Amino acid sequence: MSFFKNLFSKPLNITLTVTSSNGFHLRPVAQFVSLAKSFPCNIDATFHDKTVNAKKVNALLSLSLEKENTFTLSIKGKDAKKALHALNTLFLSLMKEDVEVKNIEKTSHSYAKASYEGDIIAKGVAIAPLYAYQDEIIHHTNTLPFSEAIQLSIEDLGKSDLDINLAQKELLLGLQESATTLEDLEAHITQACQNLEGTKLSAKIVDYQDILQRVKSHLGIEKKLIFPEHDFILLANDLLPSEIEILSQSKVKGVILKETSINSHTAILLRAAGLTSLIINQALKASQEDVILDASAAVLVIDPTEKDLESAKTSQDEIETQKEQASEKRFDKALTSKGHTINVYANVGDVPSAKTAKEEGAEGIGLLRSEFLFKEVAPTFEGQSEAYSEIFSLFDDITVRTLDVGGDKNLPYISLEKENNPFLGIRGVRLFKTHLALLEEQLHAIFLAAKSKKLKVMFPMVSSVEEFTHAKSLAENVAKKQGLDISNILFGIMIEVPSVLFLIKDFNDVVDFYSIGTNDLTQYLFAIERTHSTLKADELSPVIFSALTRIVTESTKPVSICGELAANDKAIKQLVNLGLHTLSVSPKSIAQTKEIIRHV
Ligand code: PEP
Ligand code: MG
Repeated sequence: MSFFKNLFSKPLNITLTVTSSNGFHLRPVAQFVSLAKSFPCNIDATFHDKTVNAKKVNALLSLSLEKENTFTLSIKGKDAKKALHALNTLFLSLMKEDVEVKNIEKTSHSYAKASYEGDIIAKGVAIAPLYAYQDEIIHHTNTLPFSEAIQLSIEDLGKSDLDINLAQKELLLGLQESATTLEDLEAHITQACQNLEGTKLSAKIVDYQDILQRVKSHLGIEKKLIFPEHDFILLANDLLPSEIEILSQSKVKGVILKETSINSHTAILLRAAGLTSLIINQALKASQEDVILDASAAVLVIDPTEKDLESAKTSQDEIETQKEQASEKRFDKALTSKGHTINVYANVGDVPSAKTAKEEGAEGIGLLRSEFLFKEVAPTFEGQSEAYSEIFSLFDDITVRTLDVGGDKNLPYISLEKENNPFLGIRGVRLFKTHLALLEEQLHAIFLAAKSKKLKVMFPMVSSVEEFTHAKSLAENVAKKQGLDISNILFGIMIEVPSVLFLIKDFNDVVDFYSIGTNDLTQYLFAIERTHSTLKADELSPVIFSALTRIVTESTKPVSICGELAANDKAIKQLVNLGLHTLSVSPKSIAQTKEIIRHV
């Protein structure tokens, strides 16, 4: 019945207007298509008199939608209403987030004569000879069938964390349906590139070329870049996104591109790699002598005088100093642009990492992974107590986690029965069942080292309220037996087992705090082992964010987050906006996490 209803129903229409100055380009299109594909209904996009399937990246890109263009989405079939609502919401947020990269402001310079001026991709000053891009094509004999080469390329791109690669994957998925040979693929790509030429989306041509090269390399046609053994500034028309990683490992000091834009993927990746680079749209020649590429002042000086070289070196020193100053800000509070303070704590495993955390600007310890305190040999009670005392003296606010052994974490001095599924077996708080004496000794050492200091003790892998209350009462018994007052200790849990998501209201009555362990929570939500070499759960999946929303909404006790997600630059804004105000990250990520928060 509903099949016929859907079949004969009228399509739902909505008009969408591109508001981003970048146009509706590859990365947002890829995200849009990925959501569109999750609905069973037909979804078409019409602009002027051209209608395309909105579930295909290359089709949607072929509309060449630019700022102020309005197109119509026409949705028909099952779940059309839901799809319309979801796509409209996503489109509006994509447009809002996709801010234009403004021309970077130039600094002034005092060179005798600037030979060329350009547009800045990434600031910095480089002094080295100019070297023109060179590559060679190598034909290998062990070739794969075309379909396998495409499949492997899709898999490679899917493994990457970069939006750019995921967008390229969507493009290739679209091309996979229509190309059955390399010649077919080349023809489709040539056509797509011709359609893009001269439009505002022409920067995406390199993505198509990159895809083609990736497939070719799986077919045994490898393109090898040739770099000199000495420092150099690279001259190239453009670079493929995949070439930038290889370039970063060479002796490159700077890059000058002729045919790209400051919004291109190449430019984004050069900035991310921190490579001094400029766009100069003129023919330049390789040189034997040093030139000055001052990308901060947006100039290239071909025959520098002694004075020019001195001045360039002074600029280099100044840039170095600026970097150091940024690092000095690591001890400043992390305030969002609206003035909210976010606590940035550290995840540590032993005394040296706790000291590093202090030097890197941590404001507390959000997770002390006590299983890493003594790795080789079983510690004595005194040894444990001393290590805890030393760490506790470093910060005011500290959360210690009781031993989280099991799964992929085994200690040579703790015997665990061999299990078929160790991640689902004796692990974390479940050790209270099998290794009670060990945990009692640990709790005793912690309580003694805490003296009267306020301290948080947390249990890992808790999956039910009873598990927590049992562990807490065992801890209280230890204190009673030893005649210790533990009124200074708060007790909480890691949220890393999905059952807890449905028990928060009950936990609120018994715990003092929560810390979200997204590493395990992700593993258990997707049933993908976190150490698996082929399978990889997406920690940025909406599933994770809806789990986090649920926790924050239902909890009446303080919640922090200590999984790797807390330092993920793509997640921090959302985490903060969700109401998570304590992020605990690895010591080396503290300065950067604070800096990102300052822009939220
Ligand atoms: C987690 O699971 O997210 C977590 C922080 O704990 P660990 O990585 O030590 O399992
Ligand atoms: Mg964990």
